[in-house]
Amino acid sequence: MSAAKRKNGDFLLAVEGLTVSFDGFKAVDDLSFYLDPQEIRVIIGPNGAGKTTVLDLICGKTKATSGSIKFAGKELTKLKEHQIVHAGVGRKFQTPSVFEDLTVFENLEVSYPQGHSVMGALAFKRDLAVVEEVEAVAKKIFLDDLLDQPAALLSHGQKQWLEIGMLLIQKPELIMLDEPVAGMSVAERQKTAELLKMITKDHTVLVIEHDMQFVGDIADRVTVMHQGKVLSEGSIEHVKADPKVIEVYLGH
Ligand code: ADP
Ligand code: MG
Repeated sequence: MSAAKRKNGDFLLAVEGLTVSFDGFKAVDDLSFYLDPQEIRVIIGPNGAGKTTVLDLICGKTKATSGSIKFAGKELTKLKEHQIVHAGVGRKFQTPSVFEDLTVFENLEVSYPQGHSVMGALAFKRDLAVVEEVEAVAKKIFLDDLLDQPAALLSHGQKQWLEIGMLLIQKPELIMLDEPVAGMSVAERQKTAELLKMITKDHTVLVIEHDMQFVGDIADRVTVMHQGKVLSEGSIEHVKADPKVIEVYLGH
């Protein structure tokens, strides 16, 4: 079901009592938060707070010790990684992992979800659909003039955009990004903010980020994590003014 069709007030993602323990150390500790369809949520917090581990738990890379992750009515803690991708959750890791030897076009093309094998006129129609989709996504990620460029020749920021494009072309309802603007120039950060705000027409976005300017530009709401728990949550203004957040994070 598309985000637009879901009833108002239904959460796209409901994380409740989520806990993971590594040899007795609780990296995520009884964490609860809720995402509305089409919102941009940013998770902030000091290093080691458990932010990346939350994304690992949602995408099934790490198994929860207890708690629940409901996405579009499905319990994700019971599913395997590929089933979670199939359910509509896409995740980008901290370092870009594009195929350096392939062009921008080819990187997007190989990320296009594989249909069933088709023959003749049908296959031709499908190829046209792929080309159109690749071109549409390339435009969104500011790379439409660089379709034939090998990824190796892109800047670090352009590689980050390409990887976001490789997620977009799979049309996940929820897109999760871990520090997407790390290493980007100010101009690239602003364009990335534009890009994320634009894609919320079709996607819900969960981002981990440190750059508070960028967080303020994109976030509908901010969740602050500390020691595996939610320390504070609300608008950027709310969390920035919260003495607990200033003490453990913003004051440093
Ligand atoms: P953040 O992304 O907020 O900086 P992480 O989620 O990466 O924090 O890590 C939270 C804590 O959990 C850290 O102390 C880290 O060392 C620990 N941790 C993360 N993954 C594992 C793992 N697979 N095994 C053991 N400890 C881990
Ligand atoms: Mg991290």
